[in-house]
Amino acid sequence: MNPFAYDRPATVEAALQAIAAHAAHAASGTTNTGAANQHESRFVAGGTNLLDLMKEGVTIAPHLVDINRLPLDAIEESPDGGLLLGALARNADTAYHPLVEQRYPLLSAAILAGASPQLRNMASNGGNLLQRTRCWYFYDVATPCNKRTPGSGCSANGGITRQHAILGASEHCIATHPSDMCVALAALEAVVHVQSVRGKREIPFAEFHRLPGDRPDIDTTLAPDELITGIALPDAARFVRHSAYLKLRERLSYAFALVSVAAALDIGEDGTIAEARIALGGVAHKPWRLPEAEQLLAGAAPGEEAFGRVADALLHGAVGRGANDFKIPLARNAIVRALHVASQGTVTNQGMRKGEDR
Ligand SMILES: Cc1cc2nc3c(=O)[nH]c(=O)nc-3n(C[C@H](O)[C@H](O)[C@H](O)COP(=O)(O)OP(=O)(O)OC[C@H]3O[C@@H](n4cnc5c(N)ncnc54)[C@H](O)[C@@H]3O)c2cc1C
Ligand code: SF4
Repeated sequence: MNPFAYDRPATVEAALQAIAAHAAHAASGTTNTGAANQHESRFVAGGTNLLDLMKEGVTIAPHLVDINRLPLDAIEESPDGGLLLGALARNADTAYHPLVEQRYPLLSAAILAGASPQLRNMASNGGNLLQRTRCWYFYDVATPCNKRTPGSGCSANGGITRQHAILGASEHCIATHPSDMCVALAALEAVVHVQSVRGKREIPFAEFHRLPGDRPDIDTTLAPDELITGIALPDAARFVRHSAYLKLRERLSYAFALVSVAAALDIGEDGTIAEARIALGGVAHKPWRLPEAEQLLAGAAPGEEAFGRVADALLHGAVGRGANDFKIPLARNAIVRALHVASQGTVTNQGMRKGEDR
């Protein structure tokens, strides 16, 4: 691992100053600023992704700002009936928080589908949003990779593509976003709260992650000196009784998604669907959501035919690259299955349908 300077501030303001001071120092030319995402000062939270990347030489960070002392680990109710998840609340504490289990069972299920108990105990909510792709060429510093070294080429294009994207990819990068939590956050229309020395701003989830285009080295719209302080969840009471997270992977635990689906339905008294939310993981450079496809379910009765129609719309334009061709029918079946499970009633962390008693 490369040597790095280390700060451990106790306040948000001090953390932002520490990052900004290093950015100014780097810009003055005394530090190698290199390509975007490389050779920059970084925040470190749980360290479960960043430290691996530093040990492998994929990320070279000359300066770490450890944010674990910042008071950002609360999970609080917001006045609009939603919740604000602190950026430093751990994934496990978030998934098992009573208010998250009650109001956002989709999010709880998605988090618990990811990683392992030990990792979820360390991983923070902010870090989960910023974890990097699991494209194996990205981790192998002996191979060209535009995300790691801009302009060097994409080894996956024409290489082994089993894990790679079927939607929204570019000739420069066909990687997928690996998070489970983010797929549920996309479906729930979360808002990311961020802060820098320039002030605060809020980023709608759909605008947080990027498609690769010709700059796959840039994963998100967050500036390098911006700190995620929290994730706001709008009220989603109408989806509580009918949601499901389905993750398909190579083995039953401790594996990233080949395809995952977050599905939430608002089913009215008359049994028809008033509103649907569907987001896909494992298929694109960002959680994949198409509100216009979801509209196809408005007013429809739950059922295979309607679910198939929305699956086809969501996968319109999907392209396989040989080894990942199977993902297109897999994703279609997963969407139909997740919508069917959601329509039957949310399964809680205790293995019961929402509202059922033991
Ligand atoms: C073996 C293994 C299996 C895994 N399986 C899964 C899985 O199945 N599904 C899944 O979703 N995830 C999985 N993960 C990924 C795991 O969820 C992430 O590593 C974790 O969520 C990252 O959180 P962290 O707090 O450890 O982030 P860190 O490693 O500390 O940071 C990650 C990035 O976020 C930045 N950062 C952190 N916090 C902030 C903040 N508040 N503001 C601004 N920048 C910040 C850091 O600078 C860094 O760039 C797995 C990880 C491992 C190692
Ligand atoms: S798919 Fe993206 S991350 Fe993977 S080798 Fe190509 S450029 Fe790198």
